[in-house]
Amino acid sequence: MPSPQRLQGQVALITGSTSGIGLGIAEALAAAGAPVVLNGLGGADAIESTRRRLAAEHGVEVAYDDADMRKPDAIASMISGTLAHFGRLDILVNNAGIQHVAPIDEFPPEQWDAVLAINLTAAFHSIRHALPAMKRAGFGRIVNVASAHALVASPFKSAYVAAKHGIAGLTKTVALEVAESGITVNAVCPGYVLTPLVQKQIPDTARARGISEDEVVRNVLLAAQPTRKFVTVEEVAALVSFLCGRDAASITGAVLPIEGGWTAH
Ligand code: NAD
Repeated sequence: MPSPQRLQGQVALITGSTSGIGLGIAEALAAAGAPVVLNGLGGADAIESTRRRLAAEHGVEVAYDDADMRKPDAIASMISGTLAHFGRLDILVNNAGIQHVAPIDEFPPEQWDAVLAINLTAAFHSIRHALPAMKRAGFGRIVNVASAHALVASPFKSAYVAAKHGIAGLTKTVALEVAESGITVNAVCPGYVLTPLVQKQIPDTARARGISEDEVVRNVLLAAQPTRKFVTVEEVAALVSFLCGRDAASITGAVLPIEGGWTAH
């Protein structure tokens, strides 16, 4: 008889999983046997074909919820809908995120609000709605996708750095509150991963710093990482998948760098 997969039957919800790191995490958790709920923006056809591909490749149920992470009511419905459909929610990955790059005195207030809502406040809402079921089950895994910018700052990213430092604090606080309930709460802190989020900020960073886009990649992005390499989606997904397993039961309240040595400077 084949041995059961590591996360077999554990239901995982990953916010912002229609692209980039979130999609990579959904792939890794599905590959480990977890039915997954995808969430995020994008064209309906592209999302449906991703949903079908994941289900077919990994032999797990894959659902999709279109909740907008700026809307607390939509987040509440996404969690209650997941619980109603699957009867459980074992793994919550708060990954949805956006970036805006501008000097603070030119930073549009509506962009500040959006970055804080999606990168920080959404996690507050999803966690508070998911925890009661995890407590009843006596098991849960919450992983917040933070950033190296949860640990150090870069100029022109005030909202993002504030949100990511905030999620580090939220992670530690919730971990302490649920430490005796079989639930772990951790944050992972990637360095630069070449996803649409990073690709979009290259022209803005070039403008803000008055340098070329090539110089942004060489002298700003990869200059931060002693390895001089982008972190890969697969590396981040593998770390998250490990944190979701039984072997990671004693890792909680951790804010874990995966950034090519950036914060060792
Ligand atoms: P991405 O742009 O590829 O993916 C972002 C995801 O969030 C997409 O699925 C998008 O649809 C979703 N999203 C955006 N706004 C949303 C909203 N209002 N409601 C629901 N979903 C929404 O970016 P990524 O690089 O994969 O980023 C994922 C996470 O990783 C973010 O939290 C980001 O801050 C973090 N991160 C990224 C990097 C990097 O270098 N790429 C580094 C550190 C941390």
